Amino acid sequence: MTRIAVVGAAGRMGRILIEATQRDEQAELSAAVVRPESSLIGADVGEVTGQGRLGVALSGSVEEVIGQFDVLIDFTTPALTLENLALCAAYGRRMVIGTTGFSDEQLAELEGYADRLPFVFAANMSTGINLTTNLLTTAARALGDAGFDIEIIEAHHRHKVDAPSGTALMLGEAVAEPLGRDLKQEGVFERHGQIGARREREIGFSTIRGGDIVGEHTVLFAGDGERIEITHKASSRLTFGNGAVRAAHWLMEQGPGRYDMQDVLGLKG
Ligand code: NAD
Repeated sequence: MTRIAVVGAAGRMGRILIEATQRDEQAELSAAVVRPESSLIGADVGEVTGQGRLGVALSGSVEEVIGQFDVLIDFTTPALTLENLALCAAYGRRMVIGTTGFSDEQLAELEGYADRLPFVFAANMSTGINLTTNLLTTAARALGDAGFDIEIIEAHHRHKVDAPSGTALMLGEAVAEPLGRDLKQEGVFERHGQIGARREREIGFSTIRGGDIVGEHTVLFAGDGERIEITHKASSRLTFGNGAVRAAHWLMEQGPGRYDMQDVLGLKG
């Protein structure tokens, strides 16, 4: 059994993560954390998240429950995730991190924990998107320097606060890296007005926000006379929750390091 704690338990992903732990026979939900000022503290997490009584009371602090879990699953905010990394490193816990929207400085700070605890960090925990990443690397090698322009289009629900999505950036890296391109130099994140013709090595990002779209990503390779589109559509957030629980089990066998879902799914090497 892997003892799992979920932080941000009352959030959109928190609720899904609670459900994912209940669907997995090898996972035991042993703690759940909400904001320190939340009126839900002390309530049963299952009753709050629609799973029925689970016998786990919501806590207002990760530190308070630090002895009760093996792996903390954190899909919250960059600042809170970094605080939780410090705590989990200090107390010898593992983490699965799905939070997105880190600044470069915050990413460097996160990287600094790689030799202090085992953690999986992935902007998208779904099996399908991680396979898509592999397909894209193959496609980019074959097409990217042969007159095909690369554009990435993503769509998400109206509540999402960062753009482009962490997944779009992850897919961007998957095509940029084999082509020796740097997204900082060649990524184009806005187009407006008289911007001139497209530069050959650009990787363009377009963002759509609306309604309840769970997450859709298309990578377009547009050439002269033909184009290829590789698309992934998530129809339920449970795919991210299931991936996170799978990553939690996998972490039980790992030493300190920063891992991603490619590691968890055995897609590397
Ligand atoms: P949300 O706003 O519903 O959830 C954020 C949660 O963090 C809330 O429960 C909030 O209470 C909690 N939180 C924030 N500050 C806190 C604090 N100081 N103490 C305790 N709790 C605090 O958002 P969401 O849609 O659930 O997304 C959360 C994150 O997960 C986002 O970064 C999103 O991009 C990411 N996400 C990742 C994946 C993936 O597969 N990696 C999939 C979906 C969403």
